[in-house]
Amino acid sequence: MHQLTIAEIIRGLRDKQFSSVEITSHLLERIQELDSQFNSFITVTGDQAIKQAAAADARLAQGDAPALCGVPIAHKDIFCTNGVRTSCGSKMLDNFVPPYDATVVDNFQQAGAVSLGKTNMDEFAMGSSNESSFYGAVKNPWDVERIPGGSSGGSAAAVAAQLVPGTTATDTGGSIRQPAAMTGTTGLKPTYGRVSRWGMIAFASSLDQGGPITRTAEDAALMLSVMASPDKKDSTCLDRPAEDYTAKLNDTIDGLKIGVPSEYLSDGLDSEVRAQVQEALNEYEKLGAKLVEISLPHSKLAVPSYYVIAPAEASANLSRFDGVRYGYRCENPADLRDLYMRSRGEGFGEEVKRRILVGSYALSAGYYDAYYNKAQQVRRLIKQDFVDAFDKVDVIMGPTAPNPAFKLGEKNADPVAMYLEDIYTIATNLAGLPGMSIPCGFARGLPVGLQIIGNYLDEARMLNVAHQFQQATDWHQKTAPTAE
Ligand code: GLN
Repeated sequence: MHQLTIAEIIRGLRDKQFSSVEITSHLLERIQELDSQFNSFITVTGDQAIKQAAAADARLAQGDAPALCGVPIAHKDIFCTNGVRTSCGSKMLDNFVPPYDATVVDNFQQAGAVSLGKTNMDEFAMGSSNESSFYGAVKNPWDVERIPGGSSGGSAAAVAAQLVPGTTATDTGGSIRQPAAMTGTTGLKPTYGRVSRWGMIAFASSLDQGGPITRTAEDAALMLSVMASPDKKDSTCLDRPAEDYTAKLNDTIDGLKIGVPSEYLSDGLDSEVRAQVQEALNEYEKLGAKLVEISLPHSKLAVPSYYVIAPAEASANLSRFDGVRYGYRCENPADLRDLYMRSRGEGFGEEVKRRILVGSYALSAGYYDAYYNKAQQVRRLIKQDFVDAFDKVDVIMGPTAPNPAFKLGEKNADPVAMYLEDIYTIATNLAGLPGMSIPCGFARGLPVGLQIIGNYLDEARMLNVAHQFQQATDWHQKTAPTAE
């Protein structure tokens, strides 16, 4: 049963091949049995899941069940869940039990989905390897000595290990797409503002966006149709009605114009990854698409400008964790200053502190114009590159990440090497565009991701383009050896 996709589970439940309680219990048993190898969950909510599944079975029996009724999913531990600990991968929030649900969590509940628990992640979503979690590193189901990517490494590993068919995740600079690439799963970051950020713990508010990780593009479409909604509680959430993202999956892609940026196939890209991406592009040509060479001339400025803007926003967002209102508080503070300093000093990990320092520096008087303002100007140029490119092409394609999954510990001593993992994904966040990663082959036995970047609010087309590839190939059906 764990091999089933969300689309198949929906059909199976309606055809009474199995009940939601049956599939939910089966997946909970798998998590119990297998997850010690991967560490993909921080919290498993077994009792609650069984109750939700029983309620879903009752609704299914009545015949008026909503879209995802009875389908098991899991949420990245960055989404607030009423009554269930929400840690954001940090000691700072190890004891935090929110009194409310994030809009995304609520949307899935309204749609009848069953939540199995909360998935592991890099602390405050900062990282590309899922090694900075307070709850320990997540291991890649394709090779447990390797990283699953990050920061949504738990969400990606849980899907790759077939512990759950779909998860929520978030992407600030690549954290949905890069782990999807590393684990052979399908990940989608929507247009900025398409999915509500309310109740999603903020890292860099102008870049953060929630989206799904699944095994197929069809499942990503099913989840996104539930996730994306207008929300009065988030002023940056677009006022657009929910959409059925499955509607165009089967449209032909004959004549589709695919932009291939020369900057994305240059030095620094692993040669086997390049070869797999090239083969995927050839496959698209066979499906009737036309490849158009394009240039995104400011690409090389994406990582440096992101590492000013994201830490600047993070330093402001994380100032709320002060040991007073909620979260970790140090023992026996001498006075208020000591309380602040030790609570934050003891509650945050290394990488989070590095970002707070960099961000506070970039925002300080005298440096604001030199760093923060300059980075915002560069951001505008990066966005313009894409706007110009989309005058000529329908979608843009290239690699998701420069290399397949690396060994645990390999890049820990070198933050810049870690930051370069997102060299191909960060620009879309700076521009606010939607992006996806789908499996397109293997390099040295490890999954490789093809990145598809769409125009603003063109998620339906991106999903159509991904689905057509998955109809013609079977990379997305390959199973991690430890998942069998
Ligand atoms: N790896 C990037 C960072 O550490 C992106 C993380 C993310 O998308 N949340 O900032």
